Amino acid sequence: MEVAVIDLSERQKEILEIVKALGPISGEEIAARLNVSRAALRPCLAVLTMSGLLAARPRVGYYFTGKEKHNLLADYLERFKVSEIKAVPAVVREETPVSEAIVTLFVEDVGTLFVVSEEGCLQGVVSRKDLLKAAIGTTDLTKIPVTVIMTRMPNIVTIDPEASMLEAARKIVEYQIDALPVVKEHSKGKLKLLGKVTKTTLVRLLAEISS
Ligand code: ADP
Repeated sequence: MEVAVIDLSERQKEILEIVKALGPISGEEIAARLNVSRAALRPCLAVLTMSGLLAARPRVGYYFTGKEKHNLLADYLERFKVSEIKAVPAVVREETPVSEAIVTLFVEDVGTLFVVSEEGCLQGVVSRKDLLKAAIGTTDLTKIPVTVIMTRMPNIVTIDPEASMLEAARKIVEYQIDALPVVKEHSKGKLKLLGKVTKTTLVRLLAEISS
């Protein structure tokens, strides 16, 4: 499965096909073939050259670099180890009341909380929607501990610090979750929580491509 992070527009795909077939080819020629003005093509050509799919040489024109889009993104994400990129997780204890967990969500400005034992081992995950669900029809959220509503081990999808960010991205997409706890084996059956990789972490990394 490929991680489709940047999708090309129909127009960009058309341009790519023209350049693959006829390149090197000038911007004017591409415009003429598509029956549009050169100016209208400029943003598309900028995206295609910035992403490394096309390159341009003065007086020669645009040509295909031979690098496919998904390979470029996959190569980029593969270069980073989870341990280099991981963020600090917001944690609560099993007995933390749901009301307090909601406050933690705001104070720490996160979307997912991790439930840990005294020794810092992962016991559960609580998402925004888990907390919202608990809030429906319940009058006293101070009386419900998060352990009642959390997703618990062994159902938690985790990632190893030595794994690549590409693997992390694939897990986030495949399991449709916002956050992955980064863990390493602590003792038999117990996983120490070292950090987290979230959709935000991934978007930050992707945004760095263009900086
Ligand atoms: P939200 O529920 O706010 O949309 P998620 O999509 O991350 O956020 O969570 C969906 C469900 O999956 C929740 O019930 C949550 O407890 C659970 N969940 C979140 N992260 C994980 C994970 N890493 N492994 C397993 N389940 C998870």
